[in-house]
Amino acid sequence: MMSANVCQSCSWSFREDHAGTEKDGRLSALYCRYCYEDGQFAQADLSLEGMIEFCVPFLVEEGMTEVDARAKMTAVLPGLKRWSGEVGHSALEPQTMETSPDNGN
Ligand SMILES: [Zn+2]
Repeated sequence: MMSANVCQSCSWSFREDHAGTEKDGRLSALYCRYCYEDGQFAQADLSLEGMIEFCVPFLVEEGMTEVDARAKMTAVLPGLKRWSGEVGHSALEPQTMETSPDNGN
């Protein structure tokens, strides 16, 4: 079954055949392959602003005006997991959870 996922880095709606890949070769449900390959971001040091600038030309190519494209990216990208901090680079690193939560109450 093919279902569209929204890339949590660039907001592109990608299907499974354009999904990014984890280190072990599994497909990522979160990122497209242009953003994410072999368990890492293709442009790991890209800033949110950089991603906006990166995406705008593609939207313009699809018929959007540059102003609209930038406005859309500026509105959408900060809510995506990569940029909101919900899932970052550390998502793939071994979890180092503290086993003793300190709720000083
Ligand atoms: Zn992407």
